[in-house]
Amino acid sequence: MTIPEREWKEALAAISEAPRIALACHLGPDGDALGSLLALTIAFNKAGHETVASWGSEPFEVPPHYTYLPRLELLSPPSSFPAAPELMITFDAGSMERLGSLEPNARAAHKLIVIDHHVSNDHFGTINLIDGEAAASAVIVFELLKRMSVPLGKDIATCLYTGIVTDTGRFQYKNTTPEVHRITAELLAAGAPHVEITQTIYNTHPVGYLRLAAAALEKLQVREDAGMVWTWVTTEDLERAKVGLEDIEALIDLVRTADIADVAVVLKQQSDGRYRVSMRSKGAADVGAVATRFGGGGHALAAGFTSVDGDPRATIEEIATALLGA
Ligand code: AMP
Ligand code: MN
Ligand code: MN
Repeated sequence: MTIPEREWKEALAAISEAPRIALACHLGPDGDALGSLLALTIAFNKAGHETVASWGSEPFEVPPHYTYLPRLELLSPPSSFPAAPELMITFDAGSMERLGSLEPNARAAHKLIVIDHHVSNDHFGTINLIDGEAAASAVIVFELLKRMSVPLGKDIATCLYTGIVTDTGRFQYKNTTPEVHRITAELLAAGAPHVEITQTIYNTHPVGYLRLAAAALEKLQVREDAGMVWTWVTTEDLERAKVGLEDIEALIDLVRTADIADVAVVLKQQSDGRYRVSMRSKGAADVGAVATRFGGGGHALAAGFTSVDGDPRATIEEIATALLGA
């Protein structure tokens, strides 16, 4: 699935005509959302466009693992976003809903460019740069920058490397193609500090996280008939460990290593009592399809949703039923 030439042309024309551009990534941003958003914001600023860059979730804070990203001063809270932008660009959001509080702004935007790589994306833009086979939204931003003849500096390379390294699971997942390595080679040549980036994202955790992970693994549950292992983290666990939800993203990567299961699930309780559900598959199950059934989304091997049920066991029963029925 490639992006039609017509969409590229329209995107380039809309960008070159716009004095002011509003940019937003999905709520609760990850490395790909943040990296893609910042890379293009930096490029637009250099080219003399006025920008506002944000995402629609509170509190408006850059997650601790990504504070090394350059030019964070270009980001501002969603309240500073124009109500009806002339040109708006979204990053890594598979649907309007993923924009959170900035969804109305996107609906009111005169022109809306959607940059994304979710196969489930419903093409909600007026211009859609969507490629379900791209390893990351950052890959599409890389191509857009090439087409805009923007040279890669260290800052932009750092942002795009962040998007690619996180969405390929450090070049482990199936989406790690020869093209991904060719792009990454260019990013390294442009000065992306890859050692510092992976040290910060993957090898630096508060001690509280390690204790919380130990407790979560201690109570790991096996649901053999559904080929699933799962565990859960309550707000009480978080308070005891003195860490936040943003500190425990890596827990699913520990759980998914269980040899007996294809599917790993971690339920993380939010402050409103509901659980954010992270799902990973080793290849047999399509967890994206399961997450979509429960109002979330994602990719075949990595997906998530927010459970309406306050009881992790009830949610797990529903997931098991979906997996066994599929
Ligand atoms: P996570 O487990 O939070 O790292 O999410 C894995 C992937 O699932 C993300 O890259 C998103 O594409 C997707 N995802 C997670 N939560 C949701 C949600 N509530 N709605 C739609 N997609 C989601
Ligand atoms: Mn994302
Ligand atoms: Mn992504």
